Amino acid sequence: MTGAAMNDTLTKAAVLILLGPPGAGKGTQARMLEETFGLVQLSTGDLLRAAVAAGTEAGLAAKSVMEAGGLVSDEIVLAILKDRMAEPDTARGVILDGFPRTPGQAEALDALLAEQGLAISAAISMEVDDAAMVARVSGRYTCAQCGEGYHDSFKQPAVAGCCDKCGGTAFKRRADDNAETVGARLTAYHASTAPLIAYYETRGVLRTVDGMGAIDAIAAELGAIVGQVTA
Ligand code: AMP
Repeated sequence: MTGAAMNDTLTKAAVLILLGPPGAGKGTQARMLEETFGLVQLSTGDLLRAAVAAGTEAGLAAKSVMEAGGLVSDEIVLAILKDRMAEPDTARGVILDGFPRTPGQAEALDALLAEQGLAISAAISMEVDDAAMVARVSGRYTCAQCGEGYHDSFKQPAVAGCCDKCGGTAFKRRADDNAETVGARLTAYHASTAPLIAYYETRGVLRTVDGMGAIDAIAAELGAIVGQVTA
């Protein structure tokens, strides 16, 4: 089915949450779901990196925390998320990637959605091995022009130095994608975010997928879930 045809199967605004440690593939899968279903990927990590790059007050406060692999305060993250959710392109539905990350954020999201007459369609936990995440995250980089993802060991461009998707020749790496910071990010995930799996299970919206499989197989599984919960 084409993306446009699949779009027609969405009959209500979808609110999808992707849960998983750094390197689980949330961003990759969110971008694929975005294309297939016409949803908007909403990554608080991307929004925070943009705030850091723009030198806003929130960005200045977040920068050192992000570099150390810690969690930015709920107050800053919620303010950024609310602003983004208010933009009209989110009306069809959103894929939350990297949010919520704490019980406080999860409760604030419930309240925000309730105000708008919305509810969580599904919180999808991507189950992966921690040990594999350090290698996945520390070798990854993206095309500076189109954002296509690559990896030193697992996925190099077909022609060295030239993006497969757009032909761009500049690439970038995130400052926090190094082995040392990934350890801190995994610790933060287990301490503050993993408890949300039980939170969403209690609310009857939890789904799980095996995040260690092939990207396309995971995408198919996620697509089936999104199709079910938005029908
Ligand atoms: P990500 O791109 O999702 O891996 O996020 C990169 C970094 O941004 C994280 O390690 C945190 O420092 C910060 N961050 C992103 N989203 C959140 C969030 N929901 N709550 C707190 N910190 C966040």
